Amino acid sequence: MSTHKFVGAHVSASGGVFNAPLNAMKIGARAFALFTKNQKQWASKPLEEATIGLFKDNLAQSGILPRHILPHDSYLINLGHPEEEKRLKSLEAFIDELHRCSQLGLDRLNFHPGSHLKQISEEACLDRIALSMNEAIKHVEGVNLTIENTAGQGSNLGWKFEHLAAIIERIEDKSRVGVCIDTCHMFTAGYDIRTRETYDATWNAFDTIVGFEYLKGMHINDSKPDLGSHVDRHDSIGKGKLGLDPFGFIMNDPRMDDIPLILETIDETLWAHEIELLYAMQIQ
Ligand SMILES: [Zn+2]
Ligand SMILES: [Zn+2]
Repeated sequence: MSTHKFVGAHVSASGGVFNAPLNAMKIGARAFALFTKNQKQWASKPLEEATIGLFKDNLAQSGILPRHILPHDSYLINLGHPEEEKRLKSLEAFIDELHRCSQLGLDRLNFHPGSHLKQISEEACLDRIALSMNEAIKHVEGVNLTIENTAGQGSNLGWKFEHLAAIIERIEDKSRVGVCIDTCHMFTAGYDIRTRETYDATWNAFDTIVGFEYLKGMHINDSKPDLGSHVDRHDSIGKGKLGLDPFGFIMNDPRMDDIPLILETIDETLWAHEIELLYAMQIQ
């Protein structure tokens, strides 16, 4: 295949991280996302040598490259937590996640920036997120800290491109920071991409405010809620409020070449079909 697009899904790592590449192969994926530990718990056993070896063997078998893998961190982590003790607990867990990625030979970690919990200002929360990231960068080498845009539910930051830019601006080593744009979150945050005109306008704004050089991955999801609703509910490709067109634009946009394009759509029995559908939208 002469494509430069690397589409996959957030696959299960249940039974061990080494199962993730096998699960990716089963659905014809050329990229994947995974949790390297239980995403709902703070503590996790360290990865064993045998587990790491098996992951690398299975990955080699799948032919999927590390740069097309987008591990996702635990949902418990809030690097911008207003309370210092809780921010430090998050930071410690985040450093452990980075370390696990490094052990598995993976070069990026996708995370949600953080929430102010209505206790501190947006600016103060952005400061704390950047403080945590700068600290984490010093602890683990070789893994990009890939900030995901959010829908802006509750007090979650990262829904505005300006939030992403403000965090990047505060990072000392810019080679260590990137962003992951989730199409559902982008849309419910208020950025339309449904027509050629709105797609171009939104991505031009992204390029001006953040910059495509920071785009390290995407989450490819349709959206149940409407534009600007700030609600995070994914839908299967073509079945939600986004429809098929924006996914066709993405599949033919060279700015999304060579990065992981990850489905987090709601019906995993459709993933193999959705991957095929996306590739079929490429104009050769
Ligand atoms: Zn996402
Ligand atoms: Zn989401």
